[in-house]
This record gives sequence, structure tokens and C-alpha cells, in this order.
Amino acid sequence: MLSVVVPVYNEKESVGALYKELSSQLLKLDTKYELIFINDGSTDNSLDFLKDLGKKDKSIRIFSFRRNQGKAEALALGFQKARGDLIVTLDADLQDKPSEIKKLLLKKKEGYDVVCGWRKNRSDPFFKVLSSKLFNFLAGVFWGLNIHDYNCGLKLFSKESVKSLKLYGGLHRFIPLILYQKGFRVGEIAIEHRNRVYGKSKYGFSKLWKDLPDIFTMLFLSKYSARPMHLFGAVGGISALAGFIILSYLTIIHFQGHRIGNRPILFLGMLLVIAGFQLFFTGFLADLITNLFRNSSSDNMNNNEETEYISF
Ligand code: UDP
Ligand code: MG
Repeated sequence: MLSVVVPVYNEKESVGALYKELSSQLLKLDTKYELIFINDGSTDNSLDFLKDLGKKDKSIRIFSFRRNQGKAEALALGFQKARGDLIVTLDADLQDKPSEIKKLLLKKKEGYDVVCGWRKNRSDPFFKVLSSKLFNFLAGVFWGLNIHDYNCGLKLFSKESVKSLKLYGGLHRFIPLILYQKGFRVGEIAIEHRNRVYGKSKYGFSKLWKDLPDIFTMLFLSKYSARPMHLFGAVGGISALAGFIILSYLTIIHFQGHRIGNRPILFLGMLLVIAGFQLFFTGFLADLITNLFRNSSSDNMNNNEETEYISF
């Protein structure tokens, strides 16, 4: 069965048209399917609209948050409820074309666990496209997963891959990366993308200063969450060593009779040593905390997930 998960936040103008387009395309695929709408605390009457649709079509399942939680949480709920072995996600604003689902299904047959849509000719404002490009580029450089479009709403997943996801606050942008880190095969396929005709985008100019810091948090989590000391120790060590070299040099020339009290480099040396030690001890504390929590929690970036196979 194919589960189609659609997060909906104040999309009353598009949701009816989306339903029509989506169900006519899904019927053409000739597979069993379910349509899961997650109403993410809409304050317009999207939910009533969905409920009306649900009364007419038994393939529709609706889940609803009382308050707006965010796209990541909406998708997480959809993944949790999905009954299909394949799961498609798609935005509710009609920017993703339901007719493109078949391209993803075809690509998946090449052996991928996840197929991401790539909005090759993206119909969005320039600034948004630019910040996305920067995001995709940096993610490629840091993690080596070179796909063009992390944040396309249209994606196809195997059930196994999504059930291992724990998504919250903004993490939906990192889904391909999280799954790649867990060892799933992630591919992409170019798809058509349309302008937003109805409603408003929920992500504006704030994207740039929200997305980019997230990349650095993810970088830290994925590389150093198990041993923060590797980062803090290295940076702190280098800083303290540089300070130590400067102060040693100043000590030598002091004994040769030079005045050092008025040299700015003295302050730099002191600062580097103090900052270095502080970073080092921050690393110790972080390691201590990580150790305390290691047994009680696991997070998205743990790569040691196992697959259980039944042997006869
Ligand atoms: N969305 C959501 N919760 C939110 C924000 C967005 O469920 O808090 C949904 C929204 O209804 C749409 C999809 O996520 O179906 C993508 O949102 P949008 O089109 O605003 O993003 P953009 O395409 O502008 O990046
Ligand atoms: Mg959109």
C-alpha cells in the first residue's frame, strides 16, 4: 500500500483542488493507497474542509494538532500513522505536482530507500531559492550527500526508513541527511514545481538565519555529540598552545631587557591561554553530560541502528 502524507497549515484554498488532483493521479497508479492529512493547527477552516472530504472518501485519514506545531512534527505524526510500505510526502499548497509521484516510484525501483524530489526549475522568490542553494551546498560539503534539494516537499520513503525518524523543530529539512547517516540509500529525481497560487508561504525571509545555524548544530551533533571533547579539546588546546608560545616569547625578551608591558600581543597571549583552558574544561563538562545521558537516550544521529532479520 502507498501512504500519502500531506501536512496542512492554513491551506483552505488549495486543499480541495489538491485532493482532486491527487486522487485522480493515485487512481492511475493502480495500487492501494491511503491519504493522510495532518492538520497542523490551522486557524482557517482547512480542518472542516478536510473533514468534509473525509466523509466522502474512505481512503482519507485525518489527524489534527490543536495548535501549530511545525512541519517536522506534522510529518512525524504522518509517518507514525502511515500503514503503507511506501510513503509519499507532498505539500498541501499545490506547488508539488501529484503527477510527479510516478517518477519517484520509478526511481525507487533502482534500489533507493528514499527518493527526494529535485525542484530543478524552482518557482519561488529569488531570495528563498538562494538561501536553499546555500543550504544544499553546505550540507553537501559537510556530509558528502550531494543531492540538489534537501527541502522539496515531494519525497518517497520506504516504511522502514521513516519509522526510524524522530523529527522535531525544523528537522524536516534534514530528513535526507539523517536517513543517509543511518545508512539508507538516498537518491533524487528532477520534478516539476509550480508557483504558489493560493495562500501564503509559511517560511519567509527568516529562512536564512534559521536554516544556516541549524546546519552548524547538525554538524556538531553528527560529528561530536558522542565525544564533544574532540572538538572543544582540539580548539581549546590550539588556543592555549598559541597563547603559551606568545607568552614564552615575551618572557624570553623580557629577560633580554625589553619592555613587554605595553605590547598588545601580551594581552592576546593571555586571552588565548584563558580562552583555551575554558574551552578545554567546557569539553570535559560536555563529555561528562554526554556520558550521563548515553544510556538513557538515543538521538537521530546515532548510526548504530540494527535491522532485525528473521532467520529460519
Ligand atoms: N506546513 C505545516 N506546518 C507549518 C508550516 C508549513 O504543516 O508550520 C505545511 C504547509 O501547509 C505546506 C508545507 O508545510 O503544505 C510547506 O509549507 P510552505 O509551502 O509554506 O513552504 P515553502 O514551499 O514556502 O517552503
Ligand atoms: Mg510551498
